[in-house]
Amino acid sequence: MYEGRLVGETIAPPQDKMKATGLTTPLPPVRRGKAGVVYKVSRLIARTTESLMPEMVSRRRERRDWERWVHSLTPELLMELPEAAAEVKRQVFQANVTRVEIETHAKCNRVCSFCPNVIMDRRMNNTVADAAMLDRVFDELGSIDYQRQICVARYSEPLTNKQYLYERLAAARVRAPRAVLAITTNTDYLTATVLKQLRDVGLNTMYMSLYLRDNERWSLELARTYSNRLAKKLGVRILTQRETPVSVQCTYEYAGVELSSTCHNWDEYGIDRGGLIQIYSQQGRLGPCRDPFQTFVIDYNGTVTPCCCVRSDLAEHSKFLMGDLSSGETSIFDVYAGRLAAWRRGVVSFGKKSSPCSSCRHRDIREDLVVPIATVLENQLQRIGRPDFHQPSAPVSSPRW
Ligand code: SF4
Ligand code: SF4
Repeated sequence: MYEGRLVGETIAPPQDKMKATGLTTPLPPVRRGKAGVVYKVSRLIARTTESLMPEMVSRRRERRDWERWVHSLTPELLMELPEAAAEVKRQVFQANVTRVEIETHAKCNRVCSFCPNVIMDRRMNNTVADAAMLDRVFDELGSIDYQRQICVARYSEPLTNKQYLYERLAAARVRAPRAVLAITTNTDYLTATVLKQLRDVGLNTMYMSLYLRDNERWSLELARTYSNRLAKKLGVRILTQRETPVSVQCTYEYAGVELSSTCHNWDEYGIDRGGLIQIYSQQGRLGPCRDPFQTFVIDYNGTVTPCCCVRSDLAEHSKFLMGDLSSGETSIFDVYAGRLAAWRRGVVSFGKKSSPCSSCRHRDIREDLVVPIATVLENQLQRIGRPDFHQPSAPVSSPRW
């Protein structure tokens, strides 16, 4: 399952990008992955502080992330740029996308009650993603020296087809050499040997989702047991452990790959995934949605969706799809600077949203940040000459491309 994260930090001067592209507003700085001892020490300090003061760190981090997003908004992000030069589209993508989410195949071995796979069972779907299509995506990312994350996740379990995963990760490593390669796994097929193999083909980050058995009820104690059991299975040590009343999150010591796990109480943590899981639809969305700005999502069949919640294999979402990369006629930059801009307009503001966003709480803002973030958002939209976008815009649904 998807766990939104950011990697790296700001270094590129936005003014240079303006000169190069002729854009009307400075692009936000490119965020780059980092390596080295200083980075590792600062990450360790950050994680330790988080373990000791989780609520304070979480609120601060979330506020920082929202403010960064607000300050990244430009007119180019909110308007389709069909006639723009290819270089402009590439720069807009490069400056904003922090995570490209893909599937190497369709299959997942589970059917979790809180996941849309409960509607579309993927256990018997052995379709693999076209290697040539993925190679094109990796090449396009390599062409902008992409240094953020490529994550194999979505509604498949990456390790149900290990060999194909290894091959695609190895291809990504060659074609987009500075990307941060990640997978999200349910850990069912994960062993110490598999972990080593993943490291050898170039994996940098692994998010491990720990799910209980059907007959188990979530408790802190059980979540700790699952985390300890995983550490034992992989032969690694738990570095940090953060607990809340509804989750246990751990990081683990392992040379060469950042390992983290979550064990959530899905009764409390579940979201309706773009209106698909209606037991989680009780509350309307509070804030804007950053996903269509920061993530670029590709299903195993080459379909681009606006966010991780929308999927191409469900009729309910068929009118929300953004593009098709399978033929090679469209680039990821065309889609991002094209149809996705219309979707972004529909979710950039506070206030009521249209389906499928109306009750989707994915990465929604916490209530105590609504007022301060609404204020900076209003100012930013004023600053970029689009105060009209402060109110909810037209419905986000659109006809198929
Ligand atoms: S393992 Fe993940 S993708 Fe598979 S059904 Fe469960 S939540 Fe969904
Ligand atoms: S709010 Fe809308 S755009 Fe955002 S994740 Fe949910 S369905 Fe996707």
